[in-house]
Amino acid sequence: MFKKILIANRGEIALRIQRACREMGIKSVVVYSEADREAKYVKLADEAVCIGPAASAQSYLHMPSIISAAEVTDAEAIHPGYGFLSENADFAERVEQSGFVFIGPTPESIRVMGDKVSAKQAMIKSGVPCVPGSEGALPDDNKEIIRIARAIGYPVIIKASGGGGGRGMRVVHTEAALIHAVQTTKAEAGAAFGNPAVYMEKFLEHPRHIEIQIMADQFKNAVWLGERDCSMQRRHQKIIEEAPAPGIPRRNIERIGDRCAAACKKIGYRGAGTFEFLYENGEFYFIEMNTRVQVEHPVTEWVSGIDIVQMQIRVAAGEKLPWTQKQITQRGHAIECRINAEDPVKFVPSPGRITTWHPPGGPGVRVDSHIYAGYFVPPNYDSMIGKIIVHGDTREQALARMRTALSETVIEGIQTNIPLHRELMVDAKFVEGGTDIHYLEHWMAARKQR
Ligand code: ADP
Repeated sequence: MFKKILIANRGEIALRIQRACREMGIKSVVVYSEADREAKYVKLADEAVCIGPAASAQSYLHMPSIISAAEVTDAEAIHPGYGFLSENADFAERVEQSGFVFIGPTPESIRVMGDKVSAKQAMIKSGVPCVPGSEGALPDDNKEIIRIARAIGYPVIIKASGGGGGRGMRVVHTEAALIHAVQTTKAEAGAAFGNPAVYMEKFLEHPRHIEIQIMADQFKNAVWLGERDCSMQRRHQKIIEEAPAPGIPRRNIERIGDRCAAACKKIGYRGAGTFEFLYENGEFYFIEMNTRVQVEHPVTEWVSGIDIVQMQIRVAAGEKLPWTQKQITQRGHAIECRINAEDPVKFVPSPGRITTWHPPGGPGVRVDSHIYAGYFVPPNYDSMIGKIIVHGDTREQALARMRTALSETVIEGIQTNIPLHRELMVDAKFVEGGTDIHYLEHWMAARKQR
């Protein structure tokens, strides 16, 4: 096992990885920008290295600084967390070329799965069902683009091949709007992701977002640990996740889970990963794969009893998966609410100093957050400041626990989306279970009218 790991990330996930290291007796090195000097995990770290100013491009995205930090501290492996460099194949390659272990898949896997067009092609080959759409990137010829859209049938969605984080997507309802939409998405994709390639998919009108967590070792063993329902989204970004997915027959989930594990074996995938699907009328359609740990991993950890971050470290160190698929079980129900520093109605970010912080507690409550009273939420990064996760024997119990947890939580000094979560936890349709990916947006539009 490694003696020392460098954590190339910030915020709650840096703390989460640090906790895994500590439990395993591994020393942790954290890197931080000048804006994160006061962060809890920086103070708790065995070693901490400042890697630059607040701007991500000069710190958390600056590969040479991170690799030098690993060199000066004699770290053996680098955990990239999520976001930042976690799905950057060049980074994974440079880490390994510099003699460190990258805690994640091979650069080749990241490359194939990171490009959504090549990922879909690989999945089709592995027998994983995909959303009907263009075969590969769209051509330049407008007539051909119109022909493809007609064949798929409107509405369609134009998506950036290199997109992520819910950005680089545009829905098109009519032929008149098609070419302009393709051109705008291309221009945006070129500017935002450095890759102007776009592709087209059928826009599904009432799908749920269901994803499968997988874990694979370096010896072509792969298992799936369960599914998550992440349909509660705003602007294609998840805010509530749960496991298991309410109301979907187990045999459907098992069938798709087995396909994902088989695909991992086929492509020689190693580490943790997530296959994301849209689920409509009883069918699963692959949309993309995330080749890293995800924000919502705790709900799966709780129902499966498996520590995903520790397993990432173990398989990176060359250990074999300790279980077969049959040994993976699910117990009870888990729900996660993402806590964002933002206005709960207008959603504008609300950075600043936290004056009061009373986290919730009690049976079945987990809080993953790096904040504390007196902590300054920097304006430079994502607005997520933590997650509240609950577990219960049933979904009803989990919902009740989340309501209690949210009622106990006090954060003052900044605004958060906790009031929104409180409302959603008593919303009749959400409580019933099985809402689709458009539900939250419709709910918010209706709230505006009230
Ligand atoms: P990202 O990498 O930016 O997260 P995804 O491809 O995972 O992009 O899509 C994010 C979200 O966008 C999905 O969870 C879903 O809500 C919506 N979406 C993506 N593709 C489609 C589609 N073909 N039809 C309907 N909604 C879609």
